[in-house]
Amino acid sequence: MAEAAIIDGRAIATGLRERIAEAAARLREEHGIIPGLAAVLVGDDPASQIYVRSKARACAAARLASFEHRLTADAGLAAILDLVTQLNGDDRVDGILVQLPLPSDIDPRAVIAAIDPDKDVDGFHPVNVGRLWSGEPGLVPCTPQGVMMLLRSTDVRLQGAEAVVLGRSAVVGRPVAALLLAADCTVTLVHSKSRDLRAICRRADIIVAAIGRPQMVKADWLKPEVTVIDVGINRIVIPEGGVRLVGDVDFAAARRVAGAITPVPGGVGPMTIACLLRNTLLAACRRRGLPDPAVLSADVIKV
Ligand code: NDP
Repeated sequence: MAEAAIIDGRAIATGLRERIAEAAARLREEHGIIPGLAAVLVGDDPASQIYVRSKARACAAARLASFEHRLTADAGLAAILDLVTQLNGDDRVDGILVQLPLPSDIDPRAVIAAIDPDKDVDGFHPVNVGRLWSGEPGLVPCTPQGVMMLLRSTDVRLQGAEAVVLGRSAVVGRPVAALLLAADCTVTLVHSKSRDLRAICRRADIIVAAIGRPQMVKADWLKPEVTVIDVGINRIVIPEGGVRLVGDVDFAAARRVAGAITPVPGGVGPMTIACLLRNTLLAACRRRGLPDPAVLSADVIKV
């Protein structure tokens, strides 16, 4: 039997970044606007520092402005809210990103709620969550946007498709479900209390796995020719020594059943930062009453 096609997230993200750079250049030429992304980093979590640095590098490559604001882990909620208020009012800043996780004594909901929804490029503000579920234009969370773009890069027909989303987090599972619904899929959202995941998955034309459980989705959970988007990023220790990144799907076995599948790494991961840049550019246009750049509306995110 033929193996599943690989959905190449690196190549698709590269294409998206090129279109973002093109749209940014046009905004600068025609309107003198340089979209800007402000990242707020609280504390010294090493992984968060790496993420913030790579976001700044991606901004520079697309010729967007980036601003980094660091606060110490003991800064406290009031200081974080002051900074967010200042960024809300700063016209050079189109997107505000508060790197999560925040220190354990800070309620992330209070910080996210303080961000101007029109600068909320992570799409986590309750106003943007509401816009997403009610089908109004807003800023859509980055990883779920990436998932939809990868799906749209395949020839799977979304309308009427049975889509199963594994995981119901606010960051991935729920917004993915909302986007699939907006794309006219029939959506089932499963979680740790769901019964008989295998039987539910076997019905699916599309599976999006976002549970953070290494290789949990097995080949015999899959209907032949299903399209699989694996969001999971898990580190496992391998017998030969060292660690390896794997997804939530048993890739090697699933590839023999599925029609198309994303690898880990090189699938959803590269899309996330590209979509953050996309949101920054869209925010820069929308805040000023300009239409979305044509090269980006080709991504066909219909929300
Ligand atoms: P969370 O831990 O926030 O959510 C996990 C979800 O999976 C929960 O809804 C949980 O259910 C469900 N779940 C956990 N175990 C099971 C199980 N055994 N059976 C069924 N459902 C289960 O994770 P995230 O959504 O933040 O991330 C999910 C994965 O995606 C992680 O591997 C993460 O690293 C990766 N990720 C990748 C990104 C990328 O850019 N590629 C970006 C963000 C995340 P319940 O709600 O009942 O607890």
